[in-house]
Amino acid sequence: MRNADTAMYHAKEHGRNNVQYFTSALNAAASERLELENDLHQALRNNQLHLHYQPQIRAHDGKVFGVEALARWRHPVLGDIPPLKFIPIAEESGLIEALGGWVMEEACRQLSAWRAQGVEGIRMAVNLSAQQLREPGLVQNVDTLLKRHGLKGSDLELEITESVAMGNPERAIVQLQGLRNIGIQLAIDDFGTGYSSLAYLKRLPIQVLKLDRTFVRDIETDPSDAEISAATLALAHNLGLKVTAEGVETEAQRDYLIQHQCDFMQGFLFSKPLPAEEALKFILER
Ligand code: C2E
Ligand code: MG
Ligand code: MG
Repeated sequence: MRNADTAMYHAKEHGRNNVQYFTSALNAAASERLELENDLHQALRNNQLHLHYQPQIRAHDGKVFGVEALARWRHPVLGDIPPLKFIPIAEESGLIEALGGWVMEEACRQLSAWRAQGVEGIRMAVNLSAQQLREPGLVQNVDTLLKRHGLKGSDLELEITESVAMGNPERAIVQLQGLRNIGIQLAIDDFGTGYSSLAYLKRLPIQVLKLDRTFVRDIETDPSDAEISAATLALAHNLGLKVTAEGVETEAQRDYLIQHQCDFMQGFLFSKPLPAEEALKFILER
């Protein structure tokens, strides 16, 4: 029965109406997942999580205008676990509210510490998951948090993915409008990888589209990715939105994006996500 249950869980993950056979590999994956879930509980309690900050560069003058906070988990036995592995576990197990709350708190604390060290005008971007957007107290909590750290709404940018925004657009619009009312900047993350209703996109109170790195990656080699990037930039600008290009790794990508009026860029060409002290150094140097 337990094995059948595992196979059913797997089938559900692949959407409705399909059949999955149980294999021992499934069992191994399921128990690894369960172990990680338990460890993640511990990690939250025992300060095993920390944040790295990736600089975001303003295209026209090359200055740092913000950083994106990215969660990191150093597991005591397994070492670094990538967020693409532990964030989904946190989302499925309900841990994401605690984890996301911690990320937001830590990011605000860090920004306010940098301010005290003389850093001006840097905005902090934080990723928001589907569950967090559903929390009824979200706007109030963020407002309280900002006040506690002496920050303004405009110091914070919240990123939600396309699928989160489009999953239940009417509800998303209400929550996002609440965040907007306290001055928070809103961005759609990984734009172009999910599916967007352009009718809703126009109604979402957002300011920024983040062009997904899969398009940026092949700008030099795949003419359709170059076209998609250029078209997304044009679409966004026509809607009065700014664009941050993700995953900029080469000078040719950067030049193409600048040529097409990209507003902000983020990627290894400029900097990887950095621990707080190194991020501060980078900001001060740029
Ligand atoms: P994201 O929000 O789209 O973050 C950008 C990801 O691209 C980061 O991966 C970053 O390290 C990576 N990246 C940046 N520049 C480059 C580049 O030039 N080349 C390549 N190949 N990659 C680049 P990371 O840190 O592994 O995070 C992966 C995803 O995990 C994030 O994607 C985000 O969706 C999620 N995530 C991370 N931290 C949090 C968090 O605190 N809360 C939530 N809800 N999700 C998070
Ligand atoms: Mg992001
Ligand atoms: Mg992204």
